[in-house]
Amino acid sequence: MSKRRKTRIINIGGIKIGGKEPIRIQSMAKTDTRDTRKTIAEIKRLEKAGCEIVRVAIKDILAARAIKTIKKKTKIPLVADIHFDYRLALESIKKGADKIRINPGNISKPTELKEIIKAAKKRNIPIRIGLNAGSLKKPAFEPPRLGMVNTALKYIKLFEKENFRDIIVSLKSSNVRETVSAYRKLAALCNYPFHLGITAAGPCDTGIIKSSIGIGTLLLSGIGDTIRVSLTGDSLLEVIAAKRILQALQLRNFGPDIISCPTCGRCQVDLPEIVDSLQEKLFTKRPITIAVMGCEVNGPGEAKDADIGIAFGKKSGLLFKKGKVIKKIKAKNAVKELLRCAGHKP
Ligand code: SF4
Repeated sequence: MSKRRKTRIINIGGIKIGGKEPIRIQSMAKTDTRDTRKTIAEIKRLEKAGCEIVRVAIKDILAARAIKTIKKKTKIPLVADIHFDYRLALESIKKGADKIRINPGNISKPTELKEIIKAAKKRNIPIRIGLNAGSLKKPAFEPPRLGMVNTALKYIKLFEKENFRDIIVSLKSSNVRETVSAYRKLAALCNYPFHLGITAAGPCDTGIIKSSIGIGTLLLSGIGDTIRVSLTGDSLLEVIAAKRILQALQLRNFGPDIISCPTCGRCQVDLPEIVDSLQEKLFTKRPITIAVMGCEVNGPGEAKDADIGIAFGKKSGLLFKKGKVIKKIKAKNAVKELLRCAGHKP
């Protein structure tokens, strides 16, 4: 993994991003923001799942005003997502938004941007320059990745001219290669923290794959300070997927990691059932690795390397703890024994 890119540290309602801060997890509420009861419920659910910053859509003045009520009942920083009308940003700032996301593709008048910057500066909150390839006004001959980078640089310059540096940038496209290439290019040209994501990534199966490749590639190159996995589906899945990406890259730890083999003709136990049952019952937050392996080919090696492991044979398996065999157990008791080793009370 490459060394993390040096970025400014930005404070979003008490949560810091950039520098050496942990890569933060974001999501976006899918409710109509004006329905504060539903929006508050969704944010609380996301917060409980590990979301650290949440965005809401501000499509009119009533949605902007709803921020006041939502802020009173939720804890994580709230980001107002603004398109087209700069006055919605001003109202959101007034009502307590912790950050504003603007889309340069549809708010482009310098006078309007200056108004937003002035208000954000006064309340000491950051702004995300959130570019989407799909809404970019760019010359037709310019490849989208270059269009995103050039537009971002133009806006950064405008913000800096106003002496405003609480900036976060995102350059999202639904094309993984294009997104990665744009972020890489801009990473060499500024030190503002990046919000990573693949926009309109699609339904959960393909969306998680595209996001994992795009976000994962960038994080491995040391680029990225906060991530959002955009999925057409339950926002809770966005948070779970983001946590899994960060855990897989060993950038953050959210609890146990189950290593299990895909099984093949050598496996003589119902491994998928054992793994499902283990995953369902495992409630510890301890950062332990648990290997569940189908046979003696790779089983003992993986089981030895994990904190706890089991390598199955015929209807039974060898239980490992910290690299040592501690006993032979029956396959039907495997979940119970693994849970006990993981610290669960019987
Ligand atoms: S560990 Fe054994 S059962 Fe599992 S995939 Fe490998 S060879 Fe097959």
